[in-house]
Amino acid sequence: MTTHAQPRTRWPELGHAGGLVLLELLLHGAQSRVRLAENVGLSRASLSRIARELLDLGLVVEGDVELRESRGRPPETLHLRPEAAHFLGVKLTGDTLYAVVTDLSARVVEQRAVPLPSRGVDTVVALLTEVAADLSAGATAPVAIGICLAGDVLRSGPDLVVRRSSFLGWNEDVPLAALVGPATGLPVTVSNDVHALTAAHHWFGSGVAYEPLVVYGLGAGIGSGVVVGGELLEGAHGRTGRIGHLRVGGTGRVCENGHDDCVHSFVTIPSIEFNAGVAPGDYATALRRARAGEARAVDAFRRAAFALGGIIAESVNAFDPQMVSVMGEGRDMLDIAPQELRRALLEYLEQGDVDEVRIERPPFDFSLYARGAAVSAMRALLAG
Ligand SMILES: [Zn+2]
Repeated sequence: MTTHAQPRTRWPELGHAGGLVLLELLLHGAQSRVRLAENVGLSRASLSRIARELLDLGLVVEGDVELRESRGRPPETLHLRPEAAHFLGVKLTGDTLYAVVTDLSARVVEQRAVPLPSRGVDTVVALLTEVAADLSAGATAPVAIGICLAGDVLRSGPDLVVRRSSFLGWNEDVPLAALVGPATGLPVTVSNDVHALTAAHHWFGSGVAYEPLVVYGLGAGIGSGVVVGGELLEGAHGRTGRIGHLRVGGTGRVCENGHDDCVHSFVTIPSIEFNAGVAPGDYATALRRARAGEARAVDAFRRAAFALGGIIAESVNAFDPQMVSVMGEGRDMLDIAPQELRRALLEYLEQGDVDEVRIERPPFDFSLYARGAAVSAMRALLAG
């Protein structure tokens, strides 16, 4: 092993090329110096200098140690050391703070769920600070914090400002990163929750193989994220992927904008519950009834699938993605009513063959949002 057995507690200044080399190892795995230099577009001499720096910092190791000792092979291969640094990722909902700590390979090594005593900004910042301090005590102390939540997160000069989060009842601008940064002493990034999910799926999920990539997050709300040219599309204001209020016809639950015929009226978990005629919060019953063939519940999931198909078609029309990934805890309409999704694609696709639209349903659990926030923090440091 190297002399750097301890994880870092501060992220080092890597410089642009150093960040690129680390990112290449992180996304595509261990590789020879020759291939690494080619892939990143560096001369062998520049790569040697950067590799030395990364080795000294303990972020990478050389070669296959066993192979080298037994056969005298030169240490040509560079490997990332995932355990060299850790990141705190937080997903804020209206009632709970979900936190994970990941290593550099986005593997979750710590996990917490803490109820919010209130939704006030001061309370939330205090709780974030407390959780960060708690998770900084051990051997996996984070070097940066990523926070994600439903709503618009806008860049205002150097600040990341939460513009609107209906789940938290924040109706005015909240400079969350500027509040949490000084309180914790760590770099903080804040993102929309589905953008965070997309960032992680692109770097560490099956999404890494596809370009462009469109990700939908279905749950209490609906959002989407788009990766084009290897970058998460942030837009001019941080507002990309706001596709939830497209009017798709029919009559469903009234959304926060007063529509009863928009994508939100059918696709979100509260809408499926309402349209299926079950009590708010009892999604499990709606799901069970639909799987048992009960007409009203089946109809609610059919209409959800049709609405989802409509916006998937619009994203295909706009971006011609290689893959559409449907994530989130409320994506069951995909297997309950696939024919309705297909019917919407047939109706809304402008061109191309419906069978060319590739839709995947990757494994999902709710901690992926917090993990996505950790990856967003990592992204901010590595690819700034
Ligand atoms: Zn609406």
